[in-house]
Amino acid sequence: MSTESAWPAPADERRLLDSLPTGLFIGGQWREAADGSTLDVIDPSTESVLRSIASATPEDGMAALDAAADAQSAWAATAPRQRAEILRSAFEAVVARADDFALLMTLEMGKPLAESRGEVAYGAEFLRWFSEETARIGGRFTTAPDGKSRLLVMKRPVGPSLFITPWNFPLAMATRKIAPAIAAGCTMVLKPAALTPLTSLLLAQVLQQSGLPDGVLNVIPTSSAGSVTAPLIRDPRLRKLSFTGSTEVGRQLIADAAHQVLRVSMELGGNAPLLVFADADLDKAVDGAMLAKLRNGGEACTAANRILVEASVADEFTTRLVERMRSHTLARGTEPDSRIGPLVDADTRTKVHELVTESLAEGAKLALGGKPVPGPGYFYEPTVLTDVPRSAAILKEEIFGPVAPIATFSTEDEAVALANDTEFGLVAYAFTRDLNRGLRLAESLEVGMFGLNTGIVSNPAAPFGGVKQSGLGREGGLEGIEEYLETRYVGIADPWG
Ligand code: NAP
Repeated sequence: MSTESAWPAPADERRLLDSLPTGLFIGGQWREAADGSTLDVIDPSTESVLRSIASATPEDGMAALDAAADAQSAWAATAPRQRAEILRSAFEAVVARADDFALLMTLEMGKPLAESRGEVAYGAEFLRWFSEETARIGGRFTTAPDGKSRLLVMKRPVGPSLFITPWNFPLAMATRKIAPAIAAGCTMVLKPAALTPLTSLLLAQVLQQSGLPDGVLNVIPTSSAGSVTAPLIRDPRLRKLSFTGSTEVGRQLIADAAHQVLRVSMELGGNAPLLVFADADLDKAVDGAMLAKLRNGGEACTAANRILVEASVADEFTTRLVERMRSHTLARGTEPDSRIGPLVDADTRTKVHELVTESLAEGAKLALGGKPVPGPGYFYEPTVLTDVPRSAAILKEEIFGPVAPIATFSTEDEAVALANDTEFGLVAYAFTRDLNRGLRLAESLEVGMFGLNTGIVSNPAAPFGGVKQSGLGREGGLEGIEEYLETRYVGIADPWG
């Protein structure tokens, strides 16, 4: 595409898709799967095949780990500045190809182009942020309290790492792991989601062109996730597993990782409460709810899953939210007026519709939407439910769709108790003009992240992650690089003794 603001034509789509690498990326080479297997990548707005790509076998998975293990010691020995400059070049290259990355994500995942462009900016920023962190990996040197020895604390790269990523943010979920691993001096194998592998293949090509040495990053899309990754997780050469996805799969991977006491980072599911107090600026609360609910079509771990509104403003808030959600145009993400794209696949849409149907049967009222849109494409109407009973499954499970369930509360204590009544603890949002209340909530909500008067918290300079069953570890911020560093202590005899 020629200009950043140009809308892509069908010919642009074909040209981009035809230009993509479609092999496995192992040891700096693009290759077919060992048994010639392929998988089809589908456009969720048309249900047609975008591209057919190589699908890794367990043998290919092991070849990728061989390449990462072989490259590890030379890569760990590189100068921090060299790794920083590769990351910086990759940042510039991703930004220069922002239109291609955005179009690709819209094609394989469905979100509107404007949102994909937002993800390119967010995803690329991890490359820049960690290029800046590379030269600041520290350590310390102290005198022991008794004065008799010296204590040297140094940081070393963890070693070969396996990354398993989801389909909802195809670029950012990859760069949030790849960038700090490169900065720390780790090599890696990336297994992207089978639904959205194309963005990872383009990213691998861009990183190679930015000077990343062969074997540092290996990318193995596959339609057999478990059988390809399980042998790697049991291989003693692997030193780290970083997973972003559902709590159900994460729990299984933690159990598998226990076999060799593998270091793990887990970015798992969420069930975010969004609290609206009667003293809130309601315009801002509605803006925040729209962002927290409809960003990425509701297919985000940070999506507001439970909208809890103080009873005295519930009717007013609901009326305004319904008006705003009604105005969102459902269309293929490449259409200029698209504000909300399709869900990623038929199973996701079926699950969303089941949750809506069940909550209506349990007594919720329908204020907007409530139905799948007849095909082609996996579109679902923006939906608002009110009077949702507290026992409803929709308040307990991740919805992962454009559905806003609203329930009410009467006091701050009740709001906090409701918000914390979940096994998840990724993020919460609250809208209030009372700063003391905001600070009380920041201390009493059981979450890894809290948005005060904002519907979005993701920022590459901040630590992203959850508590409870939303995960372990943090990505981004000053904390993100620590996931890829080991602390080594060297005890040194008294130099004067
Ligand atoms: P998912 O089903 O758990 O899949 C995530 C990844 O794990 C995919 O690459 C998948 O491969 C792979 N996988 C599935 N089963 C596996 C197994 N047995 N062994 C190894 N890998 C396996 O989740 P999803 O549906 O893609 O993503 C949505 C979930 O991700 C939601 O729960 C969301 O909250 C969570 N998420 C969390 C964060 C966060 O930062 N906390 C961010 C984004 C998303 P296939 O593609 O082949 O199935």
